[in-house]
Amino acid sequence: MSVPKYWREIPYHFRLEGGKCRDCGKAFVPYRQVCPYCKSRNVELAKMPRTGKVVTYSILHVYPKGFRKQAPYVVALIELDNGARVVSQITDCDPSDVKIGMKVEAVFRRISEEGKAGIIKYGYKFRPVFQNKS
Ligand SMILES: [Zn+2]
Repeated sequence: MSVPKYWREIPYHFRLEGGKCRDCGKAFVPYRQVCPYCKSRNVELAKMPRTGKVVTYSILHVYPKGFRKQAPYVVALIELDNGARVVSQITDCDPSDVKIGMKVEAVFRRISEEGKAGIIKYGYKFRPVFQNKS
């Protein structure tokens, strides 16, 4: 698979894009043509902020088919800095380190592998924002 083809096929949600309502000003993920808050159709595609905080989370001990063997792992509901909420895996930390209210940032990571050919899919996950990070 060629690299340019791969990049063209990455879905919108792998680019941290969502919708923003020009009428009520609220942001949401995924992008929709109608604002879920005020039903306005005056919605634009918008880049979402890379940082947010954990609203709630679950530690999962089984992984979906096609995912790398990485159980247990954490899936969290994250409120981005603009108020939009996304569900994402938390990476780069021990599951016991995840706390409600913890600051997180989006990082591009390997998500899954398909079959022996090892076609690897990438996408955004979130990791804790540490002080003094390099
Ligand atoms: Zn609206």
